Amino acid sequence: MNKKRILVTGGAGFVGSHLCERLLSEGHEVYCLDNYFTGQKENILHLTKYPYFELIRHDVINPYLIEVDEIYNLACPASPVHYQYNPIKTIKTSVMGAINMLGLAKRVNAKILQASTSEVYGNPMVHPQPESYWGNVNPIGERSCYDEGKRAAETLFRDYHAQNNVKIKIVRIFNTYGPRMHPNDGRVVSNFIVQALQNKDITVYGKGEQTRSFQYVDDLVEGMVRTMDTDDAFTGPVNIGNPDEFKIIELAEKVIKLTNSKSKIVFQPLPSDDPLMRQPDIALAKKALDWQPKVKLDEGLEKTIAFFKDIIK
Ligand code: NAD
Ligand code: UDP
Repeated sequence: MNKKRILVTGGAGFVGSHLCERLLSEGHEVYCLDNYFTGQKENILHLTKYPYFELIRHDVINPYLIEVDEIYNLACPASPVHYQYNPIKTIKTSVMGAINMLGLAKRVNAKILQASTSEVYGNPMVHPQPESYWGNVNPIGERSCYDEGKRAAETLFRDYHAQNNVKIKIVRIFNTYGPRMHPNDGRVVSNFIVQALQNKDITVYGKGEQTRSFQYVDDLVEGMVRTMDTDDAFTGPVNIGNPDEFKIIELAEKVIKLTNSKSKIVFQPLPSDDPLMRQPDIALAKKALDWQPKVKLDEGLEKTIAFFKDIIK
């Protein structure tokens, strides 16, 4: 086996912790870099048994130098509640984090993958969204610090590749859920499950007619690893998401059923710039990565519910 030295920024977060776990299980040397803004030591404590796992407390807005073969750049708060808490810091994290990690990749000749997002499509006018769609993003709204930061990061990746031959990959991740989501991070799957388990009201924003396509975290990690392993000529961007699309009200009903909850659904105002619909076109991922999601929503929700049952007794 080809043992690689791999840096994962944002490695103590929800997705990052699953990615570190996967890479360690394949025998690689993994450096988990995080400033613990939304990530937690609990997410990765079980990985400290691996002798080739290292934790680095660092903020990606400052440069960092380390000899590695690959970099997965995930550092960035991902839930609206967290990324809107300090919007200036959020966009700095995306933009300066990208510059610093691309600079590192250039210096040590590492391959680098950017965790981009379906949010680059904004409130889409094309449905489902293919990678060729340029998006419909408000540059001065509540989501802009995240959306525009991720868009600028994609531009930086593209330019470091074109100008400096840095080996880049960009994945556009659609809504992902699973164990180790933060119970208070405000995202819809964690909110509904926690509310249902506590028999509290389920808070549906708007009429719940807006749609999202939910991907289980194991499918995402598989897609990211496959993207990193493509030939240097393949840079993406490539959509990684589950095309099964659900209305938010349907998700609420499903969670109530799966948890046997007594919760009632209540309707609250829809946040501004909340996209009406979202579904990935995954034709490129199927062709270039031979990848498609395997985990159905019910199965993934069962696993996620089991995790939350454990932590919110
Ligand atoms: P998360 O908030 O659980 O993880 C983000 C991690 O980055 C945390 O551990 C946090 O402490 C760390 N971090 C934040 N700012 C940092 C900084 N300045 N320096 C160092 N570390 C920093 O979120 P997640 O859901 O695991 O998302 C991981 C990545 O995937 C993010 O880049 C996010 O934008 C992207 N993404 C996630 C989803 C999703 O549905 N989960 C969808 C699209 C894109
Ligand atoms: N949402 C909701 N109730 C909640 C949290 C979210 O109805 O308690 C809605 C939200 O308005 C959005 C969808 O669920 O339409 C997904 O929200 P999330 O924050 O998980 O992801 P994003 O909006 O970034 O796709």
